[in-house]
Amino acid sequence: MSEEVSAVRLAQDLIRLNTINPPGNEAQAISLVGSILERIGFRVKTYEMSAQRTSLIADLPGQDNLPPLCFTGHLDTVGLGTIPWSVDPFGGEIRDGKIYGRGSTDMKGGIAAIVAAAANVSGGSHASLKLVFTAGEESGCEGAQHLAHLGVLGETRAIVVAEPTLNKPLLGHRGATWLAIKVSGKAAHGSMPERGENAIVKAAALIGEINKIGFDVPPHLHLGGSSINVGYCHGGNNINVVPDLAEIGVDVRTTPNLDGREVKRKIASISGTAETTTIMDLSSVYTAPDNDWFRKVVAIVEAVSGTELEPTVAPYFTDASVLAPAYGNPPLVILGPGDMELAHCVDEFCEIRKIEESVAIYTDIMKAN
Ligand SMILES: [Zn+2]
Repeated sequence: MSEEVSAVRLAQDLIRLNTINPPGNEAQAISLVGSILERIGFRVKTYEMSAQRTSLIADLPGQDNLPPLCFTGHLDTVGLGTIPWSVDPFGGEIRDGKIYGRGSTDMKGGIAAIVAAAANVSGGSHASLKLVFTAGEESGCEGAQHLAHLGVLGETRAIVVAEPTLNKPLLGHRGATWLAIKVSGKAAHGSMPERGENAIVKAAALIGEINKIGFDVPPHLHLGGSSINVGYCHGGNNINVVPDLAEIGVDVRTTPNLDGREVKRKIASISGTAETTTIMDLSSVYTAPDNDWFRKVVAIVEAVSGTELEPTVAPYFTDASVLAPAYGNPPLVILGPGDMELAHCVDEFCEIRKIEESVAIYTDIMKAN
């Protein structure tokens, strides 16, 4: 029998390590989790993206001859925001059955539940397991991209993403293509605008065009339609100068019916001489609810939680946007103890009973074939 790991205590220990990204500093949290995984029999490898920024891949062969099941999560968190917290964000304090702290819900509670479930099954009969714990998810899945780029992910036959879903199995999420568009003009004195070319005015016209873009693809059955939002527009320095540069940031949320390439083609077709750079390009991920493995997961969740589930999707994107394509798009589920309503919020917490429920669910998924 392998050692028991308390998911609650591990979640508290992880919350006490500040991994706010930037700068992230995930290395300590990764080494804490890595040392536990080594003790329970995993082969652990760490990959440093930059100083103090490490991701981890841990493997444990099972009794099946199938490729492993992948469980994944990120160890970085977002910042604390500007409103003061009423609890210590790095205290891991327990009050009324809830663990408080930055990252409790998103998603150190989920990571702790994976490790505790792995400890439950190690030494017994279970599927081959692969745990992928990343740095830098909150800033655009940087750690996952680093692992994919290194070519060290290996293979998997299905993925569990332990992001906050209150233990409801979600089918996937939309992708995101973020573009920065630089519009150039010609500087002149503000009293003689006819001698210049106003980059802000040109950018404003382009924004009008961008807002009129229709991608002309049908909405996806579960993920819905795509969307487009101009998230920023910067330009000009002085009130009395014709600006020669403006920049627009465009956030397009994509579905399986619309990929990043098509988004870039469409934007390029209306932006003339403006220079477009891709800030991030993450694909949508989706598993149909009638997929065999997904149905097995739903049956396990229903047996553990005692409630019947409707198939829905996540509003946010996850590391799965990078991992799923790198693994050849196996079935996946987004399923974790946290509550997405509390993610990134002041006084973030995760309910202990949800973490314990996740441990039971993950344990049964790891045991099932
Ligand atoms: Zn997250």
